[in-house]
Amino acid sequence: MTGTFVGMPAFPEAARAALADTQLRHNLAHATATIRGKRAAVVGEVEDWESLRLAGAAVKDRALRDLDQQLVTLEEQLTARGATVHWARDAAEANAIVADVARAHAVEEVVKVKSMVTQEIGLNEALEAEGIAAWETDLAELIVQLGEDLPSHILVPAIHRNRAEIRDIFRRRMATAGRPAPADLTDEPAVLAAAAREHLREKFLRAKMAVSGANFAVADTGTLVVVESEGNGRMCLTLPEVLVSVVGIEKVVPTWAELDPLLRLLPRSSTGERMNPYTSTWSGVTPGDGPQEVHVVLLDNGRSRALADDVGRQALRCIRCSACLNVCPVYERTGGHAYGSVYPGPIGAILNPLLKGTGVDEQTDALPYASSLCGACFEACPVRIDIPEVLVELRSQVVDSHREDRVPKPETAAMRGAGWMFGDAARWARLGRVSGLVGRVLGRVGGRAGPGGRRTLSRLPGPAAAWTDARDLPAPPRESFRAWWRRTDGRLDEEDQGR
Ligand code: SF4
Repeated sequence: MTGTFVGMPAFPEAARAALADTQLRHNLAHATATIRGKRAAVVGEVEDWESLRLAGAAVKDRALRDLDQQLVTLEEQLTARGATVHWARDAAEANAIVADVARAHAVEEVVKVKSMVTQEIGLNEALEAEGIAAWETDLAELIVQLGEDLPSHILVPAIHRNRAEIRDIFRRRMATAGRPAPADLTDEPAVLAAAAREHLREKFLRAKMAVSGANFAVADTGTLVVVESEGNGRMCLTLPEVLVSVVGIEKVVPTWAELDPLLRLLPRSSTGERMNPYTSTWSGVTPGDGPQEVHVVLLDNGRSRALADDVGRQALRCIRCSACLNVCPVYERTGGHAYGSVYPGPIGAILNPLLKGTGVDEQTDALPYASSLCGACFEACPVRIDIPEVLVELRSQVVDSHREDRVPKPETAAMRGAGWMFGDAARWARLGRVSGLVGRVLGRVGGRAGPGGRRTLSRLPGPAAAWTDARDLPAPPRESFRAWWRRTDGRLDEEDQGR
């Protein structure tokens, strides 16, 4: 079974371990550069990409503005077409609904597709506890599952693995989960894909029940939509007798016509393709064709909380294309595991705190700081989510949620100290003189030369050492601004030029 993110350390600690893994950094740099190049080429072909982005954002905003009504319409339409709609407030309720359906049909295994949301709620582990095996059928998800690993990318969950590692996983693990890997398996992509196809085909033909997610849920027609590249979705959605689709409530699109900009934005932004190879749509039950029992679980699990956040609700526009991950300098160096969630990268850094709330745990509170705020994610996002704006807002929420802590965080103590210093002009002038003295001493005996010849300190003492763990601190100047002004009357002199 796939592992779980429960108990992962906070981002700074997890990122440090990832940064030390040179193989991981090599795999990531290669993969993200390849995807970035493909995406840039096909986005460049669209005459007015910006207008398309605006149209996509507007569709999702309209859906979110009256989400309650859209969801009621979706339920009515799905029910009228023979589906059974369930509402789940959280992970436990959603998992229980899926397990109940599986038990009612006495199935011991299910096949799964497009189901990031089921990883969010830990469905595989919940079904395993009931004695039901859940098999991932997306190639990358299969690699993660067989490797007892964790997904590290929205679109390419096994992006951190190279071909040789994948061959080893298939050789070691396929036999424990069904059809073994062929004895002559090589690390050629086509050979690996063929082995996965044979392994999965056996499962598709055997499974009585499938579990899916959905990319979109069209309210006015009661239609769920899955887009994919491998055809595994088509197999899951048509072969089993019972289909359970777990769908986050933010997936709603008001009308069929409004799918248009989203279906044009998604493949170009995610896989760098003009059009995705498979688009499957389904609405309830069609007698004699496909699953004869269809359940749809509409999942909240923190989405109402995110919707109530004036700044953060734009994150619910996300169509999970992963473009923001592929351009993020932080993600490229740390990979997805460091984010401790099925939603990594820039979108994970805002979505997780929005879904769970700030001040709940250290791991989630660290995420809004896992960014350089360079803005590349906003530039890449096809539905114009201003991720840097949300990051800054969430940072302020994290600070606010810790104001009453009995033991203040180092940052809080530092800010209180800064407030004390800046609150009195005479005090500030005295500190300037002291810092000038420290700067002169360090200029002679301490620190080391940084860029431009300026002295830098590589390690502060005591609790402040945490700040210099990942960065150098410029040594204070040799004289305060006031002293410099008195000496030069505001004109640069030769001494200044030489500094
Ligand atoms: S935030 Fe934007 S760029 Fe990132 S995954 Fe979502 S839609 Fe794609």
